[in-house]
This record gives sequence, structure tokens and C-alpha cells, in this order.
Amino acid sequence: MKITTVETSRVSTIDFNNLPFGQICTDHMYVADYRNGKWEEGEIMPLQNFSIHPANLALHYGQSIFEGMKASKHHDGTPLLFRVEEHAHRINASAERMCMPTIPVDMFVEAISAIVGLESAWIPPQEGSALYIRPFMFATEEFVGVRPSEEYKFVIFTCPVGPYYSKPVSLRAEDKYVRATPGGVGEAKTCGNYAASLYPAMKAKEAGYDQVMWMDPYEFKYIQEVGTMNIFFVIDGKVYTPGLNGAILHGITRKSMIQLLEDKGYKVIAEKLSLDFVVDAYESGTLQEVFGTGTAAVISTVNKIAAGDTIINIDPSTYKIAPMLKATIDGMRTGSVADPYGWITRVESL
Ligand SMILES: *Cc1c(COP(=O)(O)O)cnc(C)c1O
Repeated sequence: MKITTVETSRVSTIDFNNLPFGQICTDHMYVADYRNGKWEEGEIMPLQNFSIHPANLALHYGQSIFEGMKASKHHDGTPLLFRVEEHAHRINASAERMCMPTIPVDMFVEAISAIVGLESAWIPPQEGSALYIRPFMFATEEFVGVRPSEEYKFVIFTCPVGPYYSKPVSLRAEDKYVRATPGGVGEAKTCGNYAASLYPAMKAKEAGYDQVMWMDPYEFKYIQEVGTMNIFFVIDGKVYTPGLNGAILHGITRKSMIQLLEDKGYKVIAEKLSLDFVVDAYESGTLQEVFGTGTAAVISTVNKIAAGDTIINIDPSTYKIAPMLKATIDGMRTGSVADPYGWITRVESL
């Protein structure tokens, strides 16, 4: 892999104790081009703009997919990745759905490892902070007409981030707009899903809620997920999360939490989950915890849900499972908690 580095890194100018989310990028990026039916050798270069033709297919017809993952630091200083192969499989699932070329898993892992190894000085050492990694792929061919592009770019850039949602979040169960429907593209991490969510999210904010809780598209009765997180409820000691149904994003944090919970002896029910069931639990006093899971926040506690006429108010300071899960994952990410699953990969610093 060709590597061209910057003359002077900007890393010494960054205050790791005050990191705004997603505003600071590191010095370099990885870029690989897909042409003539195959991926060309990728390269690492100083972070820079792309030049895009006005007829770029991604801009018009939306062939663009991404991943979000994190690198952390072991307390011995080694950069660590979390479930990197899972992210490779998921970007490929998104690619297939959007009629884009898949990326060989080895190429994906090598590219992530190379950029993280090179930018290891940018991984914030503070607990809960991390180097956020954004791999993405978009169509680069210029053509006016709806068909799959024959050319693509696979790019990775990275941003040091502080703890994401440090405060508990409030949710509003959506009763008008939908995020995804089985058969649609809700399982793919593709850009249009997020564009479509902006307006309902703005409306929820205007009503005083942090995020939208998405519901099924037919009856607005069954819970799907939240903005960029999967959602969990603890009711009477059991853990509930909506079952994957073709419309819900396959969260890698979700899958990891389910495994951790089951291995710790909790009963996890990942099936169709109605809002009424949650409201009934709240009214009868058995709703114990509500939290979201996702790479950005790991665990984000929920303190309020507007569910039709019912407002659920719940106090995250009483939660036991959510903080236990977060501590387990954060601990795995610094090496202080053992990883019996092989979720953590060590990266050589370049
Ligand atoms: C990325 C994402 C998630 C969380 O997935 P993780 O793999 O846990 O980061 C959940 N929902 C949506 C819509 C997402 O885009």
C-alpha cells in the first residue's frame, strides 16, 4: 500500500479533553478506486477534497454507503479495534443491497488497520473517548440515468471523539413518518435513510425530544429503533429488543449486547415488540430500564418517551444493566476487561 504522509501532523494542536463530535479529522485518509470490475490497490494520503463531476451518480441516485466503528487504546498503548470483521460483513451487505461492489474482508481489515496504525497518536486516551472510523463507499461514475455505477471509491477517514451522548436522551414514538419498511433499505447503512430521517427528527426536536423512536410503517404499533441506535427495554428483569425484521439496522453493538446479556444469564427476548407492551409495563411499574445501543454512544440511557398520550418518565440513575454493559464494553476497549469472544483486534502502530 502506498503511503504519503503529511509534513507536520496537527495532532499536537488538539485538546483531547474537549472534543466536539465529528468536527475534527485526523491528518490522513485511505482511498481505493473500483474500476474495470475490480478494486485497485488502495493508498493512504493526506486528507484532502475530492473533485466530483456534476453528473456523479452518487449525488443524483444515492449509491452511497458507510460504516461507523471505533478504535481505542489498550492501557499499554496498543490501538485496538472492535469487531472489525463484522463491520466488513455489514458494509458488504449494504453494498449488495445498493448494487455496489463488495470489498474483500482482508482488504477492509488491512485498510482500517493501516489508517488506525498511522493515526494512533490521535486515539484519545480518556475513558469513553475513541478514534471514530468512517469507512464509506460511493459511486464515482458520471452518467445521467438510473443504473448502477461502474466506478466507486472506498474511503476511510477518522476523527477523535469524546463521549457521545453523555446525557440521557428523550424519545418521541413517531406516529406519522416512517424510517424503513421490510423490503426497503432500512437494513443498509445507506445515506438516503438518514436524509429521510432529518425532517421527522427536526419535528421531534421542535416538540422538545432529542430523537425519534421509529415505529413499524403499517400501524405505528411496533417499535423499530432510534435515530442511529437500536433500542432495549428491561421489563421485570428480562431484556427486550425488537427482533430484526428486514427494516431494522443490524447493529453490531446490539448483537454484542445480546450475547453479553445471555452469557451473564439474562433472558433476552428479540421479537416483535409493541409500544403498548412497554406502556403497560410502565403503568404497572415493571419498566426498569430503557437504553439505546450503537457504536457512537455504546450505550445511551433514555429518560423519557412520548408514547402517544402517555409520557414515560424513567430515572437512569436507577439503571443496573445499562451501566454494567457499558462498563464491560469500555473495559474491553482498554484491555481492563477480558475479551473471551475475540471481538478485539490489536493493531500495529505504523
Ligand atoms: C449504525 C446504526 C445503528 C447502530 O449500529 P452499530 O453497529 O451498533 O453501531 C443502529 N441504527 C441505525 C439506523 C444505524 O445507522
